[in-house]
Amino acid sequence: MPLELSTVALSSAAIEPFRELLEAAEWQTFARTMREAAAQLHDRTIWNINSTAHGGGVAEMLAWEIPYERGVGMDSRWLVIEGDTGFFTFTKRLHALLHGVAADGSTITQAEQAGYAQTLARNAQALIGRVRSADVVILHDPQTAGLIPHLVRHGCRVVWRCHIGVDQPNQVARDAWQFLLPAVGAAHATVFSRRAYIWEGLDRRKVKIIYPAIDAFTPKNQEMDGKTVAAVLHTTGILADGAAGGEPTFRRRDGSPVRVQRATELFPETRIPADAPLVVQVSRWDRLKDPRGVMDGFAEFVAPKVDGHLVLAGPGVSAVADDPEEPAVLREVQDRWHRLSPSVRERIHLARLPMDDQDENAAIVNALQRGARVVVQKSIREGFGLTVAEAMWKARPVVASRVGGIQDQIQDKMSGRLIDDPNDLAAFGAAIVELLDHPADAERLGAGAKARVRREFLAPQLLMEQAQLVGRLLRSAE
Ligand code: UDP
Repeated sequence: MPLELSTVALSSAAIEPFRELLEAAEWQTFARTMREAAAQLHDRTIWNINSTAHGGGVAEMLAWEIPYERGVGMDSRWLVIEGDTGFFTFTKRLHALLHGVAADGSTITQAEQAGYAQTLARNAQALIGRVRSADVVILHDPQTAGLIPHLVRHGCRVVWRCHIGVDQPNQVARDAWQFLLPAVGAAHATVFSRRAYIWEGLDRRKVKIIYPAIDAFTPKNQEMDGKTVAAVLHTTGILADGAAGGEPTFRRRDGSPVRVQRATELFPETRIPADAPLVVQVSRWDRLKDPRGVMDGFAEFVAPKVDGHLVLAGPGVSAVADDPEEPAVLREVQDRWHRLSPSVRERIHLARLPMDDQDENAAIVNALQRGARVVVQKSIREGFGLTVAEAMWKARPVVASRVGGIQDQIQDKMSGRLIDDPNDLAAFGAAIVELLDHPADAERLGAGAKARVRREFLAPQLLMEQAQLVGRLLRSAE
């Protein structure tokens, strides 16, 4: 039986607001490239296909990419594949394997291979009914790779975009590539986030590097003054008080003002004093984001030396449909918290953010990042840290592991701090303490961070590169 793919409904957005953020020449190139790409696409559609409408970096980017494309006249759309828990348990494991981490063993079993192929064949059946052969399809991440041969056979121009990767592939990662290579090799183009991630065995002429990026105007990244930050964090139940004078409002994409209303589930339930310096990590509840390590590093090397509270923020669990492991990871972090001494753990908080309204969730993340004195991203592996770019755009000093794409984002001591060994809790803690103790340094790093994001990791850059790639594929199909 074919599956029902779900459509994510998206409006369109004008690219004009970027004019104020770009140099005049940059703006002109951007606007021209987008106009030309739209003309070339003509009446064809660009289909973006991934595995979840909410949660994680890919969904985050598609939610702004597509409206801007639609805004310049491209018929760009977004579909989400369907799969059962078995499928997503396997693709979660596959994700870890591609990061070189042998999760529950490194062998991909026959049953897993068959299940993966079957699920995607059924999704493909549903897709073929909707996608025209002249259309362009951009498939995201390993969950969708098995669709490539089906869509190529259908006549589409197919791009596979991989958002994950390892700096130095081990046998575990190579075995996972082998499993996916027959499908991925069939794509007309593959996109990786950095050069080091390109798989062996792929035709390099078909590979393009595009950095992920953030949008400056979404509820996640839009400007928010200090009073509003305090009001949002108070209203959602994270800060004890301090809402004096501020309103917990933000603007939706269409400009309409809304108030944050829903509660964050705080663990423990006690709210954080409003004047506490905050150290914040925002992440899905995932072992590769190492929330336990962040907690241990803070407890052992930060809490004894300086004032401050740690907030580990993530989605209210069960909200991210393609990640069945989240509840277990959250439980592990909570168990760990219970074993810390009472005086330390009262300064460590887990915040499960409401997910019912994506914009509201984003506004709370925005407030948390802006309200933080230091933002951390202690990932063990990271394809590219959107959370890192978001915090940098807000001129926050970021302490992050020197792994994966984070190395392209932060230049150590210029636009943030990189910790060489992601498991070095002492170095991680010392960098945080240094920034909390030296606000002028923190401010300098924050300013460097913002300038770097503007140059390299803002929406126009990604939109242009992608438009150019689509243009090239269409020309080659003529
Ligand atoms: N995010 C969010 N709410 C949460 C947790 C994460 O909006 O509760 C967002 C976060 O702000 C970022 C994205 O999800 O935009 C995560 O992207 P990232 O590249 O950091 O990691 P990924 O989840 O893709 O591994």
